[in-house]
Amino acid sequence: MNDNLFDILASSISDEGATAIETLDGARISYGDLVSRTGRMANALVALGVKPDDRVAVQVEKSVEAIILYLATLRAGAVFLPLNTGYTAAEIAYFIGDAEPSLFVCDPARAADLTQAAAQAGARVVTLDTKGKGSLTDAAASAPSGFDTILREKDDLAALLYTSGTTGRSKGAMLTHGNLVSNALSLRAAWRYTARDVLIHALPIFHTHGLFVATNVTLFSGASMILLPKFDPARVFDLMARATVLMGVPTFYVRLLEADKLTAEATAPMRLFVSGSAPLLAETHRAWHARTGHAILERYGMTETNMNTSNPYDGARVAGTVGLPLPGTEVIVTDPETGAALPQGEIGMIEVRGANVFKGYWRMPEKTAAELRANGFFITGDLGRIDDTGYVHIIGRGKDLIITGGYNVYPKEIEAEIDEIPGVLESAVIGLAHKDFGEAVTAVVVLTGAPSLTEAAIVAALEGRLARFKQPKRVIFVQELPRNTMGKVQKNLLRAQYAGLYHN
Ligand code: AMP
Repeated sequence: MNDNLFDILASSISDEGATAIETLDGARISYGDLVSRTGRMANALVALGVKPDDRVAVQVEKSVEAIILYLATLRAGAVFLPLNTGYTAAEIAYFIGDAEPSLFVCDPARAADLTQAAAQAGARVVTLDTKGKGSLTDAAASAPSGFDTILREKDDLAALLYTSGTTGRSKGAMLTHGNLVSNALSLRAAWRYTARDVLIHALPIFHTHGLFVATNVTLFSGASMILLPKFDPARVFDLMARATVLMGVPTFYVRLLEADKLTAEATAPMRLFVSGSAPLLAETHRAWHARTGHAILERYGMTETNMNTSNPYDGARVAGTVGLPLPGTEVIVTDPETGAALPQGEIGMIEVRGANVFKGYWRMPEKTAAELRANGFFITGDLGRIDDTGYVHIIGRGKDLIITGGYNVYPKEIEAEIDEIPGVLESAVIGLAHKDFGEAVTAVVVLTGAPSLTEAAIVAALEGRLARFKQPKRVIFVQELPRNTMGKVQKNLLRAQYAGLYHN
């Protein structure tokens, strides 16, 4: 049996004429087209020298061709390596040097800058632009459409995704065909996805969320997706009239809530709003429900593991939680020091095991051994707890934990209290070096409107609500929090910016 994701996908197609992908300029790609165009692309890749297990590194804007390239790479038995379009030439040179792809696909505007780095790593360079045109498309256009999908086993590599690593070198997470297929099928069932679904696809496709969750789940359902080059609230409002699902990062929902157009009528045709990749504020969840009648379904996953937990489709979607472990995925909470399982309800390190969990970090056996236990549990780096109904709560990244005067402080607890203060939009709590406390709890706060609150007012509001050692020593006001493309607050940038605040 061929465990190649492409073959499993192709064999599940029941209607070749059904639309797989639509674009804003009116192009419509059926499932039949998808198979034949993927065949042409796979033939072009082979003609360009791509062999099974070779890496195909790709830094391109979102387009139909980019999705076809992803599927064709897997079909040809090679390993898809998508790269954030924001990476600079120097960053790309590191990834190419580390992954040693045989082919590098980039925007024609980038090709000249990167040819040397690619040549050094032994990679050929071909181009694909924002409109899906370029030397790669030309090569595919003249190639035959028939292609015998290369035989792959569940454990063979399908993709290499570099983690967005905020410290140290970015690590390449090795994902197998088995990882991707099992997660797509598990989410399809959990979210009741069917061929009638139409997804508003507004996420980038260089990340696990847009590439695997959004794309694979849709294609494995025989459903269709409307491809937006990027998130655009006005477009999303238009499309909600004929779509059924939106998958987004929390920022999408915050932006959509800013528009008066967001009403129960505007969202009536939709059946599902999914959020993930960063914490969705309970307040956003409640505001969305109040305005639309829909409860956003929040799920939790990461590059290394695909998706681990999800709020239920039927049943309570609890604001501020990431729901229950997906079938086939085990979630446990352990003591970060000893690795021993903790009693139910306690905060500790979240560890996960299942067919969704990756194979290890590319050429980093020590890192792999440090984070992926011999018994199969992956140490996620996220702190959390499981409540008495089995729902998982994420408390934050382990490295964001603040140790002040010997006490552990979980930023999320402080942020939740600050966010409750009228006039506060959101906050990020960080630990900064302090000569007496080791680290001092420090709050970075964004206000809702005119600067009505002072530092003293925030501190006074927390009096009596938080133990003394948890209260911020200083409060800094900013216009907005720094976020990456997936909507994650970049606390490392805040820590660097305010490193000298306490004049050590
Ligand atoms: P990435 O590998 O870029 O997808 O980042 C994965 C990380 O994002 C996880 O380890 C979590 O820290 C965070 N994350 C993803 N989904 C959620 C969520 N629903 N709530 C809180 N944090 C999340």
